[in-house]
Amino acid sequence: MDRSKRVVFVSHCLLNQNTRAKGMSKAQGGVKELMDLFSEAGIGIVQMPCPQFEANGGLDWRPKKSYDAKPYRTYCKKLSSNILQQVKKYMSKNYKVLGIVGVEASATCAVHQTVSGGKKSPGKGILMEEIEEAMRKKNFQVPLVGVNLNNIYSSVERVQNLLKYS
Ligand code: SF4
Repeated sequence: MDRSKRVVFVSHCLLNQNTRAKGMSKAQGGVKELMDLFSEAGIGIVQMPCPQFEANGGLDWRPKKSYDAKPYRTYCKKLSSNILQQVKKYMSKNYKVLGIVGVEASATCAVHQTVSGGKKSPGKGILMEEIEEAMRKKNFQVPLVGVNLNNIYSSVERVQNLLKYS
């Protein structure tokens, strides 16, 4: 069977909610609605690492401010560089990288809305900031899309649009 040569990069916990902070998971395993969508469209799913789990053992919820210190930012910068190397490798082999899908309200993976001082506030999480900055420096762009795990159906629609227009 031919490969679709179309992939998305997704935040780790969209495939594995076990890395979410305690009380924050929305599924026992992966987020089925999204995985079904990609699978039915023949799109490969590349799972990015979970920085909060890997660097901080991340299972307790913390706001962005408490993560935003030099060691964690340096760690996310390095990860973003590795992720973009993979993105470029796919692109260099004529694969289409449709997008990088993050998770809203995350200190690390939010695309439009993070959490500060216990309140939602506009902005990206630390990893997404580093990915965006690294793409800017390398002068290329892959769409960043945020999934709201509290409203999965509107998120599915957003992801469907990403697939439709790419
Ligand atoms: S850091 Fe990112 S991948 Fe890890 S649990 Fe939070 S949103 Fe998911």
